[in-house]
Amino acid sequence: MQKEFAQSDITPITPDARMSAEVHGGRAKCLQRLIRLEMPVPQTVALSFHAVRRIAAGTPPDVTEILRHFGPTPLLSVRPSSQDPDWGGPGAILNVGICDTLHATLCDEIGERAATSLYLRFIQAYATHVARLDDDLFEVPEDPTHETLAVALRTYEEEAEEPFPQEVERQLGDILGSMARAWEGTSARLLRKAKGAPEGAGLGLVVQQLALGVGQGACGSGVIQFVNPATGERQVTGRYLSQSQGREALEDPAGAVYLTRDPRGPSLQDEYPQVFAELLEMGERARTRLREEMQIEFTLDGGRLSVLDAVRVHRASRAKVRIAVELAQDGIISREDAVMRVDPAALSELLHRQVALDAERDRIANGIAASPGAASGRIVFTANDAQASAARGEDCVLVRRETSPEDIRGMHAAAAVLTVRGGVTSHAAVIGRGLGLPCVVGASDLLIDRKAKRLTAPDGRVFREGDVITVDGTTGDVLAGQPAMLEASLDGAFRTLLQWADAVRDIGVRANADTPADAQTARNFEAEGIGLCRTEHMFFEGERLSVMREMIFADKGEDRAAVLERLLPMQRADFADLFSIMGGYPVCIRLFDPPLHEFLPSDKAGIRELANVLDRPLSEVTARIEALEEYNPMLGMRGVRLGVTVPEIYEMQARAIFEAAILSKMSGARVVPEIMIPLVSAMREVELVKNRIDAVAVNVHNETGADLEYRLGVMVETPRAALRAGDIAQHSAFLSFGTNDLTQMTYGLSRDDAGRFMSAYVQQKVYAEDPFHTLDLDGVGELLSMGAERARASEPGIVLSICGEHGGSRSAIEFSRQHGLDYVSCSPFRVPIARLSAAQLALAERESNRSLA
Ligand code: PEP
Ligand code: MG
Repeated sequence: MQKEFAQSDITPITPDARMSAEVHGGRAKCLQRLIRLEMPVPQTVALSFHAVRRIAAGTPPDVTEILRHFGPTPLLSVRPSSQDPDWGGPGAILNVGICDTLHATLCDEIGERAATSLYLRFIQAYATHVARLDDDLFEVPEDPTHETLAVALRTYEEEAEEPFPQEVERQLGDILGSMARAWEGTSARLLRKAKGAPEGAGLGLVVQQLALGVGQGACGSGVIQFVNPATGERQVTGRYLSQSQGREALEDPAGAVYLTRDPRGPSLQDEYPQVFAELLEMGERARTRLREEMQIEFTLDGGRLSVLDAVRVHRASRAKVRIAVELAQDGIISREDAVMRVDPAALSELLHRQVALDAERDRIANGIAASPGAASGRIVFTANDAQASAARGEDCVLVRRETSPEDIRGMHAAAAVLTVRGGVTSHAAVIGRGLGLPCVVGASDLLIDRKAKRLTAPDGRVFREGDVITVDGTTGDVLAGQPAMLEASLDGAFRTLLQWADAVRDIGVRANADTPADAQTARNFEAEGIGLCRTEHMFFEGERLSVMREMIFADKGEDRAAVLERLLPMQRADFADLFSIMGGYPVCIRLFDPPLHEFLPSDKAGIRELANVLDRPLSEVTARIEALEEYNPMLGMRGVRLGVTVPEIYEMQARAIFEAAILSKMSGARVVPEIMIPLVSAMREVELVKNRIDAVAVNVHNETGADLEYRLGVMVETPRAALRAGDIAQHSAFLSFGTNDLTQMTYGLSRDDAGRFMSAYVQQKVYAEDPFHTLDLDGVGELLSMGAERARASEPGIVLSICGEHGGSRSAIEFSRQHGLDYVSCSPFRVPIARLSAAQLALAERESNRSLA
């Protein structure tokens, strides 16, 4: 007959036992490490995942084999040991083995009050976890008596219809069974899944000789750690509670004492200096040998110290960075290890204000988390009101159905943006990320009544203009009121970690930056240039919008060119600013992209105002606006199509770029501007635009005598451009994949409307993820790799990159490295995250090559 339990299923933890986190769980493995470090860990036996699975399935545990490792009247604790301690597990159960006879012996040894308290605690734990009785029937009073115990035993017998079990075999078997089954329960599964555990994650259990913590002399328990879990600073924190067990010292702060000397009250350091010194020494030993900051659970028993357990200190994001950096600086781990230890998503929390972890969240609605960070402010419904609010010095949240380029100034003025429509690449999301502005889009459960200036939540609550709400762009939550916040922090450890990341990174990281402020952020985060400057945003600024509108209304080419003359100096100044901020790093300027219609007013009042400015009849202006309307503007007259049919715009922009480059060169900067043509689908488009831009360059050279060096490239964002990348490459110094439009056109999916049904699509697994959020490696990825391959085959030296919103994501960086792309470009605030992800990918590849060799 096959043995129910294999030999490795029940293993006493010794320095040499075969033990691993994958078989016995992280706690068991950690206890073995502590034993190897000669820490005073009581006798412990580990049950493997396999054993616990069998127990959950109904096979009784081999308690005789377990108990063989303990004395004749054992008193035990049982704790969970999942592979990753963060995945949790059932709570620890202490005092297993106590019964009437052991209670009587303990009364003599440690006193009746202490012995009775232990017995009562176990009755309560057993009654609730095994017999499934209400725990309030078995409350343990401060001063338990013989009578309290008698009542508890009687209550148990009445409720469970059997006497309280007296045999340790039965008690232990039942406890192991209940813990094993609890791990298989639905809520435990969901909970650990949310923490990243895989579907089949196993549970191990550890059975440990109990170190009492109650009794005569110096008895108690405590928890000590050697760093501040919020900041990562080296600092001893924790509590000790006399006459207590487990983690009670943390649960009863009133009775607990400090560990280090403290003016607020007594401390372990004063009361038991020898024990305190021993703990400090153990902390140092754990840090250097386990290469981690550990929290140690200890017990004092008649003055003797036992270490029951140690776990990695649970830490906030900023502490993660500091701890990793300091461990490396102290020579305990390598710099590469430090780089690998910090989850790039944790950096995002450091870069933005966040809702404090322990703050109360009164959630009104949830949408798509489009730009991380959180901010509170008074609700405003128009961009003008946002500007007025900023002028009064009041923080506001701009709430719109969706934003358009006309809202840009309002967005600059707002503390956060909330839209009811849109997805991760919609206007609000892209601009929000660029500005580092918290943004939630697609909160489709909210009803906006713009006229009445009212916002109605799905639970019926109504919020009016001026009411304070909070937008949490990290989680997608919209909250009522103003919860406590945690400030952003870019400390020395953050910069050091990123420098170490850069030392191993093997792909460039640039930023998408449209304004001098964006460019400055990009430089602060050490982006290696601008990969995409969307110039159209520059035309919405104050006076320029009117000039732009005049240009659109110009009847003839010469009239148009004359109006553009007025925009030229403004554009030249914009570009000169960018060049000077980027200090010699490359700046890639994309020529004008959006449909002209976006620059025209859409409401009556705006149209009337425009008619006034242009001094033309209202009917003519209205007719002109109607004539410019398109059924599918995103597939219509935009990008290079404007460049071909209204060439004056691109000519003006090219001249502005060249003149700005000459100006910057005169002040000593080395500038080689990169000019990028958007929405190309055919080689001839590139030829036409290139000829015109080259002609502008010749003119500027003839006028100024200055040597002009520039690079002309193409944005590959239509499927046809990817397919024809081979011939397009012949006229291009570089190609940059615009994955936003490429995703939109590959799927035939509007990036501004997909939010409406995306969650249904993802829920029903039509798409694994929102493709605007996570690069679709199968479909869009195939076009990218085909495009890259064809471009390289025709022009081996061509520079390739990704500049869509996916650019900063780990999967896009991984893809870009695999396909030999030169750089990725992403929103400035994602630059640090991309630098760290790229470094981790390079290190992981190095590691896997090493293990293959
Ligand atoms: C893109 O399409 O991927 C892109 C970067 O350009 P935009 O988002 O401005 O269309
Ligand atoms: Mg695009």
